[in-house]
Amino acid sequence: AQPVLAVVGRPNVGKSTLVNRILGRREAVVQDVPGVTRDRVAYDALWNGRRFTVVDTGGWEPGATGLQGSVAAQAELAMSTSDAVLLVVDATVGATATDEAVAKVLRRSKRPVLLAANKVDDERLLAEAASLWSLGLGEPHAVSALHGRSSGDLLDAIVNAL
Ligand code: GDP
Ligand code: MG
Repeated sequence: AQPVLAVVGRPNVGKSTLVNRILGRREAVVQDVPGVTRDRVAYDALWNGRRFTVVDTGGWEPGATGLQGSVAAQAELAMSTSDAVLLVVDATVGATATDEAVAKVLRRSKRPVLLAANKVDDERLLAEAASLWSLGLGEPHAVSALHGRSSGDLLDAIVNAL
């Protein structure tokens, strides 16, 4: 079976938009309303001749655990069911308490974890992206899922990690 990349992160950080970038087509559901991608949806991706599966996760399961617990649970599930995890953070917001809680879970992962600093539409946001080194997950890959900025570099890192 081909390797699996799980994409996790808070609602509205641009996970589904980034998944569409990774796929090179529009397929994952993108919405301004947080919580639209409720279920985990798997897609086939291809980069540099390497096939892999991308799992887009919903950032929000309305329920008793709250957002932080929900996203942390999603990260736990991602770690146990995938070969690598991509955490997406909104660089225009910076690391929130929820991002830090998820990063703490992911730092225990035995599998590779990549960090995408999304919404870097403009190079003025590169400093904000660099501040995400604080999450302890290595290099933040600054990307703009919307405009495609640096998504090729992120894909190179993904297939190297898988
Ligand atoms: P998800 O909830 O994490 O899956 O986020 P979505 O992919 O649904 O995106 C949420 C919102 O962020 C949408 O309005 C997207 O158009 C917007 N968005 C996603 N990526 C970018 C980006 O790189 N730059 C900007 N400015 N907006 C983005
Ligand atoms: Mg989504």
